[in-house]
Amino acid sequence: MIVASNFKTNHNRQSTKEFVDFINNQNYFSEVRIFPPYTALNKFDLAPNIKVGAQNFYPVQNGSFTGEIGFEQLEEFEVETLLVGHSERRHIVGESQETICAKYNFAKAKGCEIVYCVGEPKEIREQGIEAVMSYIWKQFEGIDIEYSELIVAYEPVWAIGTGLSASLEDIKEVLSCLREKIKAPLLYGGSVKVATTKDILEIKDCDGVLVGTASWDVDNFSKMIEIADNL
Ligand code: PEP
Repeated sequence: MIVASNFKTNHNRQSTKEFVDFINNQNYFSEVRIFPPYTALNKFDLAPNIKVGAQNFYPVQNGSFTGEIGFEQLEEFEVETLLVGHSERRHIVGESQETICAKYNFAKAKGCEIVYCVGEPKEIREQGIEAVMSYIWKQFEGIDIEYSELIVAYEPVWAIGTGLSASLEDIKEVLSCLREKIKAPLLYGGSVKVATTKDILEIKDCDGVLVGTASWDVDNFSKMIEIADNL
């Protein structure tokens, strides 16, 4: 099982260090991923099942891209896992599928683990599963789904940061459609809470959760990993 925390624009350098050290000291055996903001990246001394990654990057080694972070800056911290295609980057920042593909291909060429996020907005969900899957498959255009270091996160846009989670039936249906073509681990993300983690992780094709809001508190995140460890 994979339990991942996306800090988004939360935590600072000190609180991230305390968070990561605490999780690392628990001897969990689930796979754990933590995505702090860039400014809190560090060379953490981690157990092999725990990885700290970046929420974003600019797909260059280095260069003249004011305000951006290239791969050289991530390499300093031995970052091995990257979030690509998160809905807040697609819909708030306005990243196109072309930009997302450029990031994906760059990260793939570097051999990094990629947590690739897909998911539909509310108006598409309201049209039913066929519309949802056709929307989601478009988000795989230009993406190598056979990449060995790929993890896919299904995150319905309307469920992210809203407190509204998709129903277990809806998650199950989308994950089983994804599983028909994708061998990579499949995560669900979208307002996952401690109380809902077990039921979600028990869904047949679900290999883990990607959590934002509810994971920023280290006790909550620990409880989620404990639930995964006990399944
Ligand atoms: C996320 O950022 O990927 C996410 C799922 O956020 P939240 O848990 O807050 O919905």
